[in-house]
Amino acid sequence: MQFDKQERCEACDFLMKEWKISSDCTLLLCPRCFHIKRDIKLCGASARKHAWGGSEFFDKIRTILTMRRLNKLLPKNKELNVLEIGFGSGKMLTKFLKKGHKVYGIDNKCLEIRIEESLKKHGILYFDKAERIQLPEENFDLIYAIHLIEHLEAPAEVFKKCYDALRKGGLLYLMTPNSASKGLTVFRDRWWNLEDPTHIRFFSFQSVGIMLEKAGFERIETGIPIWDSLTLEISSLLRLSKRNSDEHGVLSNKYIKLVYALILPFNIIIRIFFPKISPSLEIIARRSV
Ligand SMILES: [Zn+2]
Repeated sequence: MQFDKQERCEACDFLMKEWKISSDCTLLLCPRCFHIKRDIKLCGASARKHAWGGSEFFDKIRTILTMRRLNKLLPKNKELNVLEIGFGSGKMLTKFLKKGHKVYGIDNKCLEIRIEESLKKHGILYFDKAERIQLPEENFDLIYAIHLIEHLEAPAEVFKKCYDALRKGGLLYLMTPNSASKGLTVFRDRWWNLEDPTHIRFFSFQSVGIMLEKAGFERIETGIPIWDSLTLEISSLLRLSKRNSDEHGVLSNKYIKLVYALILPFNIIIRIFFPKISPSLEIIARRSV
């Protein structure tokens, strides 16, 4: 099977090229902006049967670290309108709610997990794809999406919606896998980000920058956070030893946490000295005043 030879990059419109990373996986790579598209039929990569293959414990750590990061970026002592796209169980939104902010959430319920009760009661929640939601204009101080945009059908549409829905000076905060992570070149089709069958694209800092600029954003900063998805290289290593597809992914084994605990300190040291192996891209964009 071949990709459409005329497939153009959704960010910069350049002709994309096939990139065969293993016998089981061919990706489409934009040679100009390093954006990657993934078709599950051409890059199976022993993916799970469903989207969520994380661990509640690791998710809690991520929530704490991401909240700490967001709190640094937001104004203090001010009631804010906050929107999370892809809120899942709503742990982060609930934290914003407890701080006295007005919270909104979008989720298409593909993860089928229980939602926090206080959020159901006091939050304004939409259950549909982000592309289909009509958001109030110039309403939000913060819109954030953590590991979501790599799943979207039409990211350009969602970025435009975010821009229109932000107040002037409002903040868009995104976290997503980095297409230029050295982890992908090291682990190839075992890279843990390929275990999720609904990861259909990976952004580079160039491609996400181009798409956000097209949506209207002017001040866009990107970075490689070494603190996000701290166990990803360990999961990728475990996938190296497991060639066959596992329905629930490597983290589903209950004894595996011990392995993670033992290797994690070494992984953090590797990231400190070799940050380019880190798997994620952090994006901070503001609507101009
Ligand atoms: Zn491109």
